[in-house]
Amino acid sequence: MGLKSWFPAVLVVAVMTAKAWAASPEAARETRIPDAALANAVQLRERTLQDTTAWRVVESLTTEIGPRLAGSEADARAVRWAEAQYRTLGYDKVWLQPVSFPKWVRRSERADVVGAYAQPLTLTALGGSPGGTVEAEVVRFADLAALEAVPAGSLAGRIAFVDYTMQRARDGNGYGPASRIRSRGPSAAIRAGAIGFVMRSAGTEQHRFPHTGITRFDDGLTPIPSAALALPDAEQLTRLLALGKPLRIRIALDCGWNGIGNSFNVIGEITGSHRRLREEVVVIGGHLDSWDLGTGAIDDGAGVAITMAAGHLIGRLPKAQRPARTLRVIAFANEEQGLYGGKVYAAQFKAEVAKQQLVAESDFGAGRIYGFNTGAAAHAKTAVAQIAEALKPLGIETMSKGGPGPDVGPIAAEGAAWAWLGQDGTDYFDYHHTPDDTLDKIDPAALAQNTAAYAVFAYLAASADGGFGSAPKAPEPTATAKP
Ligand code: ZN
Ligand code: ZN
Repeated sequence: MGLKSWFPAVLVVAVMTAKAWAASPEAARETRIPDAALANAVQLRERTLQDTTAWRVVESLTTEIGPRLAGSEADARAVRWAEAQYRTLGYDKVWLQPVSFPKWVRRSERADVVGAYAQPLTLTALGGSPGGTVEAEVVRFADLAALEAVPAGSLAGRIAFVDYTMQRARDGNGYGPASRIRSRGPSAAIRAGAIGFVMRSAGTEQHRFPHTGITRFDDGLTPIPSAALALPDAEQLTRLLALGKPLRIRIALDCGWNGIGNSFNVIGEITGSHRRLREEVVVIGGHLDSWDLGTGAIDDGAGVAITMAAGHLIGRLPKAQRPARTLRVIAFANEEQGLYGGKVYAAQFKAEVAKQQLVAESDFGAGRIYGFNTGAAAHAKTAVAQIAEALKPLGIETMSKGGPGPDVGPIAAEGAAWAWLGQDGTDYFDYHHTPDDTLDKIDPAALAQNTAAYAVFAYLAASADGGFGSAPKAPEPTATAKP
């Protein structure tokens, strides 16, 4: 290459580099958080720890609305409540995203041991269960595997009972195997010929509260009445069976699917300060619906309150401290029966997933946050470390675990970078999906710690100089037949 051609060659390289950079601006440099934002976050953190907005919000929701089963009259009131809260809390923009789903209703439920040991049992229908009254002999199984192993037809005309004990854990990892019984047990019972299904509740306390939750029936099966017993009642049933005689119970459930439910994701935004970057959003939220037994305080009034309050406090910062990007706080519709709100959100925004700066949901109660992690790209590791440093004084450590919350799961699956703020769930399953999920189970100091963590995390993510790697997922490779 002669001297004459040197300049144009450099120019071509420079143009190509600029083009590559424009196509993938993030890949070219490391994401960092400006020092001024880090300093603002320290003040925001300390102020939030003293703030009681989250408590007032969750108190209002659980007191004035109470239980809010998806599609119910109370759910509709909760939507109006959330809209009004965002406005009262000074959000710049409030909007609704319609969400539809099959509506399930619970009217009454009762169970009794019949015969020589006649007595009532405390249980609750699983969400999605049909109504009906069945009376039959009970057959006990120690776990799901035992039920799934029985030959087809062997439970003809009987009621299957799975008596598995859920294990307590800070990160709630005992819920996986316990909730699998709820989702897969009824179908396994039907395949074996059973006419009813009961399980020991997926819970960790010994109070006489059954734990509800959604179940599903596999295609082609005729659903049977399916319910969860309070833990002491499951133990009672086990003792009665140990007496060695055939034992009959009667289950009478009045519940079932009833048309289409309509609700909304209720969304509040604090608009970003940067003319271009304000199109990008940091998404935080919780779910607005709850089961009908308690008042939905820890599941998930707390998550709604934590994130609404965090957004409010960021919105109240002096104008010069406003983050560049928009903060989007979402009270998701119908998480409990199948992530309906989260799926609608992902369907609307998957085409612009790169504009979802970072997404996180609070849906594991109101215990103190102890862990932090993200699914961010390598080029954002400095920014992630800066956020972790700002969270440290709250007693939060970086850990290699966690994932996106349930409702942001669908948008994360489309390629949005997620963050995990892991709450201490040691006692979460003492109350989860029971009549005992009420406001008094929330510790105001822990709630404030949660709010401070969300405020700091969301503020810094929205202020970052660069992104966290959100990008459309590469199309799945064409499936090839396995040898
Ligand atoms: Zn929840
Ligand atoms: Zn739940």
